[in-house]
Amino acid sequence: MHWSRRTPCSSLADKKPGNANTLAARLARLGLRSEADFVLHLPLRYEDETRITELVDARPGVAAQFEVDVIDSEIAYRPRRQLLARVRDGRGALLLRFLNFYPSQQKVLQPGARLRIFGELHEGYLGPEIIHPRFHLMREGEPLPDRLTPVYPTTAGLGQATLRRLIDKALNSVDLADTLPMALRETLRLPEFAAAIHYLHRPPPEVTQAALEARDHPAWRRVQFDELLAQQISLRRAYAARRARGAPPLVGTAKLTQALLASLPFRLTRAQQRAWREIAVDLGQPHPMQRLLQGDVGSGKTVVAALAMLHAVEAGYQAALMAPTEILAEQHNRKIAAWLAPLGLDAVWLTGSLKKREKEVAIARVGAGDTAIASGTHALIEDKVEFARLGLAIVDEQHRFGVRQRLALKEKGQFAHQLAMSATPIPRTLAMSYYADLDVSVLDELPPGRTPVTTKLVAESRRDQVVARVHQACRGGGQAYWVCPLIEENGVSAEADASEARVKRSGRSRNAVLQLKTAEETYARLVADLPDLRIGLVHGRLKAAEKAAVMSAFVANEIQVLVATTVIEVGVDVPNASLMVIEHAERFGLAQLHQLRGRVGRGTAQSACILLYAQPLGELARARLKVIFESTDGFEIAREDLRLRGPGEFIGARQSGLPLLRYADLDDEALVEQARAVAEEMLRDAPELATAHLQRWLGGREELLKA
Ligand code: ADP
Ligand code: MG
Repeated sequence: MHWSRRTPCSSLADKKPGNANTLAARLARLGLRSEADFVLHLPLRYEDETRITELVDARPGVAAQFEVDVIDSEIAYRPRRQLLARVRDGRGALLLRFLNFYPSQQKVLQPGARLRIFGELHEGYLGPEIIHPRFHLMREGEPLPDRLTPVYPTTAGLGQATLRRLIDKALNSVDLADTLPMALRETLRLPEFAAAIHYLHRPPPEVTQAALEARDHPAWRRVQFDELLAQQISLRRAYAARRARGAPPLVGTAKLTQALLASLPFRLTRAQQRAWREIAVDLGQPHPMQRLLQGDVGSGKTVVAALAMLHAVEAGYQAALMAPTEILAEQHNRKIAAWLAPLGLDAVWLTGSLKKREKEVAIARVGAGDTAIASGTHALIEDKVEFARLGLAIVDEQHRFGVRQRLALKEKGQFAHQLAMSATPIPRTLAMSYYADLDVSVLDELPPGRTPVTTKLVAESRRDQVVARVHQACRGGGQAYWVCPLIEENGVSAEADASEARVKRSGRSRNAVLQLKTAEETYARLVADLPDLRIGLVHGRLKAAEKAAVMSAFVANEIQVLVATTVIEVGVDVPNASLMVIEHAERFGLAQLHQLRGRVGRGTAQSACILLYAQPLGELARARLKVIFESTDGFEIAREDLRLRGPGEFIGARQSGLPLLRYADLDDEALVEQARAVAEEMLRDAPELATAHLQRWLGGREELLKA
């Protein structure tokens, strides 16, 4: 994009970037590609080499600098080969120990040599020692540095000295001109950019390191503000660019949408009506809609999507609905078929359960334009699929798609209107930043007649009672889900990996395998415990057609208890199922528990969600279970989730490829607000400064941010 404006590092330009061992490759791993990037690579902490400490004043565990003379040095062989040097200053002595060393280092440590050393002293077997001190031979009259020494985030094979040298060079050559007008800086009480940057890379010794390292200093505040500002500018620009692009205005006749509404056994809620109106208005515009329809689980997003698709069809265009899992796509297909049949319309399916030949026919029909509605998984955005005249692309459970799929859809739907749907409520600060380029409709009301789901926490030791409860519910005509745990390794929730698409891509993910094993065991155990019930099993490793068969048997109440892995987490809608058991609930993330619980309470029967947990509970697990027990409000749960996990984890940014904020904190609502206001002001009054600012912070990486 704007590469021409960024000076490539001349010293790196000639190295082969393909080889992972070149300096350039190592730097690239840190995101350091141009000199401008170096300037924004800020220290993690500092070391104080501006002072000399006397050995007698050294405190164990505190890093300090000393000036010493070498008494003698030798290579010892016990317990292993190592280099030992005895040194002293005027009032004390010390042992230096090197477990790895070069002959050149040994050479420097000649008796009588004068050294500056830096390191942490501790009490060794032979008295005070420093292991692997940094040291150099002192030059005659060598001055002490007058700045703290920065320690940068780095990667294997890239030393601090190299980084410092490259960063110093960049600081001297990169244009650090301020992108914030002085008046603004003064109102916001932020220091100048150049001053803040120099300060953070090379702070004077009199500052308290603690404040700097806690990032609680005006210079850090400036950097954090700038980073948030870049994010805001980028998102607002994306929004403006989209509005400048053309899309076919979809003008409906209301014939099909009215017919659908008339055929439904319910009336739209007020929230659904409002969202549908907002979407219809957008669809009529000559620029692409990019709207997020947010609504808690069970709020009825699917029917709104169906109305939008029919509107596109009325206008003579095609519409596509994409789901993140095959199970959900199959369910959409069933629903849509039932809705379309009375209207004399049919649709095309594209999912993994299709045979090769069927798939080809489907693709051909979409390409010929003789079918207006297509529904399926991400198979819909594969290269082979060419829509004749796509007017609207809808993505259900949008947060479950990976960044690549979102980009692919964007490409495909370049000139189409887009609607994303999500049941993961986004807390305000995240909405203001990561989703600022979307318009949002919210379904803030559930359809009437739902009885709230009761949530029970039950210790694993009382499993028998839970089995009895399942028995009773099913004998009474109800149905139940029994969800098996996600196996976690080293305590990190694999939640964001649960999407089928991703599990498949990573091949036989260990998690999926372990999860499968427990699901099969649980299934066998329940079959033995409940011989008079019809029990089914569904998991991600079944073939798509097998999964579809199990799910339709469950929908038809031919299966009474469905043992499942997290493949049923999103979107599945079987109103007759009124009981959900989640085994090892302590291993699930909050968003996931909320989604799973949302599978019940969809009919009129009183529903319950039983969270089986194993003791002892860790602190975080306990906190999560408390939240899910106390609240059924998706927004509140999301807020708590954000608090417990932090924004990076919350948004699944690592998985989705969104660049995380490096320095700023999204919890800092006041600063996010300020950045948003300033972004608007700058784009209006000083667009060239906004461009320069964006360039400095995002360089060529803006595309990712917008995916
Ligand atoms: P979600 O927002 O979680 O995707 P769904 O679209 O699956 O929710 O809808 C949940 C259930 O509520 C479905 O069975 C759907 O038919 C039903 N539903 C949707 N809108 C209404 C309404 N206005 N009144 C009654 N039931 C509704
Ligand atoms: Mg849904």
